[in-house]
Amino acid sequence: MSEHTEDQSRLQESLEIQRAKMLESIRLGRILFKDDPKVLRKIQYRELDMIILENAYARLRNRFINPMLAWAERVRAKNEAYIKRVSSIPRNATIRKEYIRCKKTSCSGDHKHGPYYYAYWKDPTTKRLKKKYIGTRYERTEKAKCEYENNKSK
Ligand SMILES: [Zn+2]
Repeated sequence: MSEHTEDQSRLQESLEIQRAKMLESIRLGRILFKDDPKVLRKIQYRELDMIILENAYARLRNRFINPMLAWAERVRAKNEAYIKRVSSIPRNATIRKEYIRCKKTSCSGDHKHGPYYYAYWKDPTTKRLKKKYIGTRYERTEKAKCEYENNKSK
């Protein structure tokens, strides 16, 4: 479970506790003040306020919070995949920035996509040239360097 979903479920939990407290107060109020129409009306207003707020929160969650959390998760997963690719590239690899001719029929005209980064290196055992896709960016991060060194010594 990611940090965001944890935060969200904690928020959901506290909202549910508060909701239960409100419902209990409404229930008790209806019993205690059953002969006082003025108080009963106030209780009814509180109940309506609660419904309005809950609906507003549900809309907020569906339209903004959930899509934002999904987006954050996609960014995190994409970055994790990138780190994994970079960490499997030998240090002596040559990094090339390439542009690829567009093959999509939906794309109009003669143009190129990119830049995309690729790593090229000679495999020490087979002596053959190896090519690996890195991504749309390239930073040889300290973390990636360490991970590569660790993999190599295994
Ligand atoms: Zn295109």
